[in-house]
Amino acid sequence: MTVYSAPVKDMMFLFEHLKDNKNYNEIEKYKEVTSDLVKDILEEAAKINEEMLLPLAKAGDENPCVYENGVVRTPPGYKEAYSKFIEDGWVSLTCDPKYGGQGMPKTVSAFFDEMLSSSSLSFKLYSELSIGAYNCILSHATEEIKNTYLPKIVEGKWSGTMCLTEPQCGTDLGLIKTKAIKNENGTYNISGQKIFITSGDHDLTENIIHLVLARTQDAPKGTKGISLFLVPKYEINDDGSIGPRNGVNTVSIESKMGIKGSPACVLSFDDAKGYMIGPENKGLNSMFTMMNLERIVVGIQGLGLSETAYQTALSYSKERKQGKSNNNSNGETDLIIKHADIRRSLLNMKSIIEGERSLSFWMAQQVDVSLSHSSEEVKKDASDIVGLMTPVIKSFFTDMGMEITNEAIQVFGGYGYTKDQGIEQLFRDNRITPIYEGTNSVQAIDFVFRKISQKKVFDNFMKYVETEIQDCSKVDKLNEHVKKISELKNILSDFTDWISPNGNTPKDDISASCNDYLRFFGYFCLSFIWLKTMRKSYENLENNKEFYEDKLNTGNYYFDKILPRAESHYKSAISGSKYTMSAKFN
Ligand SMILES: Cc1cc2nc3c(=O)[nH]c(=O)nc-3n(C[C@H](O)[C@H](O)[C@H](O)COP(=O)(O)OP(=O)(O)OC[C@H]3O[C@@H](n4cnc5c(N)ncnc54)[C@H](O)[C@@H]3O)c2cc1C
Repeated sequence: MTVYSAPVKDMMFLFEHLKDNKNYNEIEKYKEVTSDLVKDILEEAAKINEEMLLPLAKAGDENPCVYENGVVRTPPGYKEAYSKFIEDGWVSLTCDPKYGGQGMPKTVSAFFDEMLSSSSLSFKLYSELSIGAYNCILSHATEEIKNTYLPKIVEGKWSGTMCLTEPQCGTDLGLIKTKAIKNENGTYNISGQKIFITSGDHDLTENIIHLVLARTQDAPKGTKGISLFLVPKYEINDDGSIGPRNGVNTVSIESKMGIKGSPACVLSFDDAKGYMIGPENKGLNSMFTMMNLERIVVGIQGLGLSETAYQTALSYSKERKQGKSNNNSNGETDLIIKHADIRRSLLNMKSIIEGERSLSFWMAQQVDVSLSHSSEEVKKDASDIVGLMTPVIKSFFTDMGMEITNEAIQVFGGYGYTKDQGIEQLFRDNRITPIYEGTNSVQAIDFVFRKISQKKVFDNFMKYVETEIQDCSKVDKLNEHVKKISELKNILSDFTDWISPNGNTPKDDISASCNDYLRFFGYFCLSFIWLKTMRKSYENLENNKEFYEDKLNTGNYYFDKILPRAESHYKSAISGSKYTMSAKFN
């Protein structure tokens, strides 16, 4: 069984001391979201995650979703847990009070997303896709559709899906074939097949609201001819009650390596009644509202799974005795946590995880500003920063999740490879996160070819880093780290010039190095946020020495042991792609 105790103390430290985005602090409605309120929410959230949801992870892995007679059944215990989950209002945490939500900011929900990912990613996905659908409908649908669908989604009685992928079409959405034929009354008949649809069918909710990408008749080829449709599993009567079954059926579910409590469905749409969301042929833009926020949450999934892997490995290292450490004085066998190499593994995990949590919190403030600030200009700037950072959070956190869950297995030795301890499940469950919502390589390509060439946005981000460097220069104990990040900033500048698609570097050299660039940037961002975290820790040291000394030790470890990895990615990248492209692969 895995071990998980929600890191509420660390989260509260961030909420109380790193909430320093001036624009965030100007958002009127969030002024009421006080530390006391957030502490209460997080403590309740911790309870539900530790006590009710954590056991569901193993239950779902051992008794995966079942497809029988055209319907999908969730693992034992999921139905009861889901009822309690919606009864307590957890689905509605960030939703607009107008539709029955609680109106909490992302600064709070990011912590909750992390906890859910730590306890049971499979269970989380049911409500996660619903919130994705909620965001998309809220931003792009008509008032009538919003009023019909949003209250039920917010209540958790109806859930949502995101239907993009088809057998011939994964990354390249221009290949979508699903068709939408317009009816006289303005609705559409949707026909085609979608695959890998998370929560495409299940027995937790009364209705499932599919958001489907499809092509209208005579739509232009490629991504310019894609529209977005809302297709409910059951049609809705005029009085809002559930009507007849719509023409969408589950053909099968995938048998897969992880997140077995979450069904990935093959769905067949046969003249299913659908409603267009947003303008015709602009469906991808509308869907991106859902996907961009989703991508940040997928990054947080990697963080959450990493935390459980770390805690479980830490706990084991305090129980397992093997060999004698260098400082052994009594001749007795030591706990493995005494060995420097095990300590290295644990601190690799801890320093990356805590850095990611800080960065995620920093990002959550930007997301809140982008959605809720009163000035359109401020919103736009924050939205640009969110756009820049989204592929980094998605890819870096989930790649690190692979490293961390792998390292945690190693701490267990042979017992990590067997099923009993549950640690191998975390590795398997995390393995999807670098794949779905756009593979990490494609995120890296997007980052280099689209994001960093927006110079103003990139410079805006670097201003945050520069300000932090200035602030930290006044703290003597951070001088060494300030020097390191300043050197790295210079390398980043050279790296950015080298990889810029507008420069002279051959395209294959650039394409072969996007992953290296994103990794470099990820390590760099963590060093920026660790600087901030350490500065705040020094400021508060006397208030809680044990907590802040541990924080500082972890930050120092990051700068000494993890950050040097960044430069190796630069060196690898600038060696070019000669041998990459000349390989014959016979
Ligand atoms: C468990 C699970 C749940 C999922 N949930 C959903 C869901 O809810 N809704 C949904 O619509 N989809 C879902 N998906 C689909 C998922 O988003 C896709 O699998 C993913 O986007 C990749 O598409 P693909 O599998 O077709 O791979 P492909 O696109 O065929 O990619 C194969 C490989 O080629 C690389 N590649 C592709 N294009 C390029 C390029 N231009 N340059 C360089 N490399 C490239 C990729 O990085 C990858 O390594 C899910 C998948 C799984 C397994």
